[in-house]
Amino acid sequence: TKWVYSFGDGRAEGEAAMKNLLGGKGANLAEMANLGLPVPPGFTVSTEVCTYFYDHDRSYPPELEQQVATALAEVGRITGKSFGDKDNPLLVSVRSGARASMPGMMDTVLNLGLNDVTVETVARVTGDRRFAWDSYRRFITMYSDVVLGVEHHEFEEALELFKDRKGYTLDTELSGADWSELVGRYKEIVEKALGKPFPQDPREQLWGAVGAVFGSWMNARARKYRELHAIPASWGTAVNVQAMVFGNRGDTSATGVAFTRDPSTGAKELYGEFLINAQGEDVVAGIRTPQNITEKARIAAGSDRPSMEAAMPDVYAELVRIYGVLERHYRDMQDMEFTVEDGKLWMLQTRNGKRTAKAALRIAVDLASEGLLSRDEAVMRVEPQALDQLLHPTLDPKAERKLLASGLPASPGAACGEIVFSSEDAEEARKAGRRVILVRVETSPEDIHGMHAAEGILTTRGGMTSHAAVVARGMGKPCVSGAGSIRVDYKTQTLSSAGTTLRKGDVITLDGSNGQVLLGAVPMVEPELSGEFAALMEWADATRRMKVRANADTPRDAKTARSFGAEGIGLCRTEHMFFDADRILAVREMILADSTDGRRAALAKLLPMQRSDFAELFTLMAGLPVTIRLLDPPLHEFLPQTDAEIAEVAAAVGASVDKLKRRAQELHEVNPMLGFRGCRLAVAYPEIAEMQARAIFEAALDAAAATGTPVTPEIMVPLVMTKAELDLVKQRIDAMAVAVGSERQATITYQVGTMIELPRAALRAGEIAETAEFFSFGTNDLTQTTLGISRDDAASFLGIYTTGGLLPSDPFVTIDREGVGELVKLGTERGRATRSDLKVGICGEHGGDPASVTFCEEAGLDYVSCSPYRVPIARLAAAQAAI
Ligand code: PEP
Ligand code: MG
Repeated sequence: TKWVYSFGDGRAEGEAAMKNLLGGKGANLAEMANLGLPVPPGFTVSTEVCTYFYDHDRSYPPELEQQVATALAEVGRITGKSFGDKDNPLLVSVRSGARASMPGMMDTVLNLGLNDVTVETVARVTGDRRFAWDSYRRFITMYSDVVLGVEHHEFEEALELFKDRKGYTLDTELSGADWSELVGRYKEIVEKALGKPFPQDPREQLWGAVGAVFGSWMNARARKYRELHAIPASWGTAVNVQAMVFGNRGDTSATGVAFTRDPSTGAKELYGEFLINAQGEDVVAGIRTPQNITEKARIAAGSDRPSMEAAMPDVYAELVRIYGVLERHYRDMQDMEFTVEDGKLWMLQTRNGKRTAKAALRIAVDLASEGLLSRDEAVMRVEPQALDQLLHPTLDPKAERKLLASGLPASPGAACGEIVFSSEDAEEARKAGRRVILVRVETSPEDIHGMHAAEGILTTRGGMTSHAAVVARGMGKPCVSGAGSIRVDYKTQTLSSAGTTLRKGDVITLDGSNGQVLLGAVPMVEPELSGEFAALMEWADATRRMKVRANADTPRDAKTARSFGAEGIGLCRTEHMFFDADRILAVREMILADSTDGRRAALAKLLPMQRSDFAELFTLMAGLPVTIRLLDPPLHEFLPQTDAEIAEVAAAVGASVDKLKRRAQELHEVNPMLGFRGCRLAVAYPEIAEMQARAIFEAALDAAAATGTPVTPEIMVPLVMTKAELDLVKQRIDAMAVAVGSERQATITYQVGTMIELPRAALRAGEIAETAEFFSFGTNDLTQTTLGISRDDAASFLGIYTTGGLLPSDPFVTIDREGVGELVKLGTERGRATRSDLKVGICGEHGGDPASVTFCEEAGLDYVSCSPYRVPIARLAAAQAAI
């Protein structure tokens, strides 16, 4: 078996398509080598070795050692050096690389191959003792930390002590002799911690590092990350071993990261950071504040340190050339890592860059305009759920801002909450329903859960490519990073800046778009949608088959829905119109009435209110379909709760408080979700359905007269289980249509349909469709009744099912394809067998969930209906499902 794949010198044994075998990093290194780009030669130990390692009690395949030796020799041939040689040593880096980028695993060991002998050789050959000993101390620190488990801070403390003793403030003040002295101290630290000396044999070092990469695949942080991102453990990670190139060889050397376009806005500008005379992790770790790549960015940032464009113009030009090659080749924005060694540029990594939703949209549309993508491909490039970020409020530009501090605009959007200083506190507060801002000096993979729980993230150290910035952008959370004027004190749980001190629990607001940290809660405004948004949505609309409607109960919902492109209302829950202060009393009267006359009196008060509500909806929707559902209240939601409320109803109807209390007790249900609700109400109290039908018909005529556009309301009967129920209710609606028609001397056009929310209704869809002119799957109730899980009580145990893998996801969020989905398909087929033009939609929460929308396309539904804010998400998801 082949376990090892070489690359370098303009060719490679692997390629980008081999991600599963080589991991993302290894596959792209091979691809770049094949493209003739400058990649330090190296090789990838495949993910299959990782799998083998865990299947064979942490041991390697027997052929591996030989294959690694051969590959190392090839790297030696290309570089003209030799691994383990004391006169001409080859030094290497060792990095992990899973299929998907995976924080939490062992990341990088640089300068491997250095020991007490080779460090002297490097010093002699380069004529630079400082460089040699600086490299060696970095190697010892990294290797000890990630391979040997000796904590980083031990070395940091030794370094600080040393600097104090010498009166230095900066690391750059240390000479070669200083670093060499410190290396002696570092080796003592290791020996004390492990009881044996730091390994001197390069081969032992190499296998130690390889083993540490594979071992880290199963560490707690990596496991947690996989769990959060549904990555199977069986994928494994690869290990990349590469000839070292040095960014720390003086002022003609550097290291950096760059995006081919701005990952926050999507603007077509090379964007990134670099550090002169530094090695890889210096940039990401935020230990030194990096410099800008372009002059434009430097000026915008107001930095007085030179940009790469100014300081290294040739290298900059080469980077720009390579960026063009990579973008055209990958047809996507790239996130690149590079090192400059003595004026020569080397590419260490490229991958499709993480970006905000705003940037994703702009990049997709721009790439299509540049001819690199087709419109359909551009539509596929934006994750529907990510649009959510764009549809939510930002800070009101007119609001007063009390500036506490400024940092980098690391991830856009506005967030407001109480400050907390640890991820644990963030999670706890979130559970208690509070909104928090996580404040850290810097974040690490251990903070992922806290970042998830927080509304936004604030760090005092680190750049635009720091952990906090990258992860927050990926999550779509606002983030301000590197707010250097803020001092965080974890001990006292306070932060202070410019003379102001805030403690845990105080409220701040972050503006992730300009990096401002503001005191208190700043008001927010609705988002403005960009030209790219409109363009992409237009392309999506041109491809999708399904219509997208909104669930809207009020004129305000309807307006939002239309502005987001809804093509009608798929569900108007009329009971939601009943909660308003001016009508709840009449609703309670109606429900508590113990006679038909009492009920009719209450209904008479409700009729004009309902009529004008409906007329407004019809007018706003201007001829688009509007589905109005007859009353479906779980009764308990409307019963008066307090004595005062009961007294109020009693006074209104002229009955005694005691009598009403008794009536309320009679109506109390053990299981209201399966109780007296849905069409059962219309069956028992026909006058309620009649009032609603009258209000709908009169409103339709009023709106048609006012606007000149005919209105054809769709009246929907909820929670039907038998055809007989639907027949009965429909007869009453039909009779009301005749009555209103003759009163108004008009013909009324309308449709009567039903919700399918009970398994029995799905099974009997064939005969129900004899009466129903349309179906709408109420998958909230259908999920509840199919799985037998109360939608209101699921939270306490459902998590155990999803994290334990007993259910693939929360069935109230993403449709349970195998169970509920089967009923949807079967109900649709049976219904259409009876009535071939039966219109079928879905109006449960699933209508706005991308994975469920994909299912609806497969099931052949005519439309999905979802909450107004999710309409664009559904439009895009429907388009992607159709492509
Ligand atoms: C449903 O059950 O899916 C539905 C849309 O109705 P409601 O959520 O109002 O019960
Ligand atoms: Mg329902």
